[in-house]
Amino acid sequence: MATIKLSKKNFYHNLNQITLQTGSVEKIAIVLKDNAYGHGLVEMARLACEYGITKAVVGTTQEAEAISAFFTEVVVLGDTPKVEGGFTYVLNALEAIASVPFGVKVELKVDTGMHRNGIELHQLEEALFHIQERGLLLQGVMTHYRSADVLSSEFFWQQKRFEVVKQRVKEAGVEGVRFHSHNSASILRTHHFSEDFVRVGIGAYGYSELPPLFNVVKLKPVLSLWAKRMATRHLKKGQRVGYGGDFIAPKDMVVSTYDVGYGDGLMRGLFEGNFLTPSGHHLLGRISMDFVTFEGEEEEVCLFENAQEVAEVLGTISYEVLTQLHPSVKREVVEE
Ligand SMILES: *Cc1c(COP(=O)(O)O)cnc(C)c1O
Repeated sequence: MATIKLSKKNFYHNLNQITLQTGSVEKIAIVLKDNAYGHGLVEMARLACEYGITKAVVGTTQEAEAISAFFTEVVVLGDTPKVEGGFTYVLNALEAIASVPFGVKVELKVDTGMHRNGIELHQLEEALFHIQERGLLLQGVMTHYRSADVLSSEFFWQQKRFEVVKQRVKEAGVEGVRFHSHNSASILRTHHFSEDFVRVGIGAYGYSELPPLFNVVKLKPVLSLWAKRMATRHLKKGQRVGYGGDFIAPKDMVVSTYDVGYGDGLMRGLFEGNFLTPSGHHLLGRISMDFVTFEGEEEEVCLFENAQEVAEVLGTISYEVLTQLHPSVKREVVEE
């Protein structure tokens, strides 16, 4: 089986950088949805806990249950609210309030321009009223930015709208709630952070999709993907490798197969012409479900240590390359 190595040092480096932006570790909620962006839910939860982070954000109740021991609070972004577990559920629509059981902790999401989830601005007072009427425990009011990673005024426009939300919540007489709007891109470009916490995902894992101009904070990728040698053979010039025989040996050569493939999440769009491993190996022939072939006979090969480079080749973003990595791939925390 392939192995995913998780660099504790790099993760803590990134968290140090984010702490500098927020002012304190208490103001960080680590986003662990989608198997911690492919890194491994429980492994990353444990490391975040050791670092001193007390809040986590996940997608589902199942994820929340798996990591609840590590945090004092877990916010669930998109699942059916229930009292058991004591988690905090995000309300994504006005209609959702009616079916939330009494006594559940909730976070009200307001749509300030992304037009994906959250109540609309004109529904704010109505939502606050229903939340109180149903006996739900409102913890906070939140929003999500659509263009925090784009060089434009849109981000500021949305921030202003959220300031209006804060004002209106106060005017409605609702007290003691927290406000949070920042994700990785927005906290990395913010200089005077004043909200209650950030919901940081991709930045903690070592990536920023911000334009280079904004990238003053240096982050380090946490994850690298490795595979072990399975078999080695001596090819004669002209012999072919793999499905379709795409690779034709240009000379007599030694090649080995390694135990990683698209079944593990190594995207099949990579091939000899567009991809090189960190140690300079070209893929020979197609990526199979569980195997790849490289020249040589090293015991272990690193497939990639920077998902953004892989993403660029494939015309996608680091998030997609990372979340493709299958949960069954072994995760190993390394100190370095
Ligand atoms: C995924 C998510 C985040 C984290 O975003 P990053 O860009 O990975 O930092 C924050 N808030 C919400 C609501 C999200 O869904």
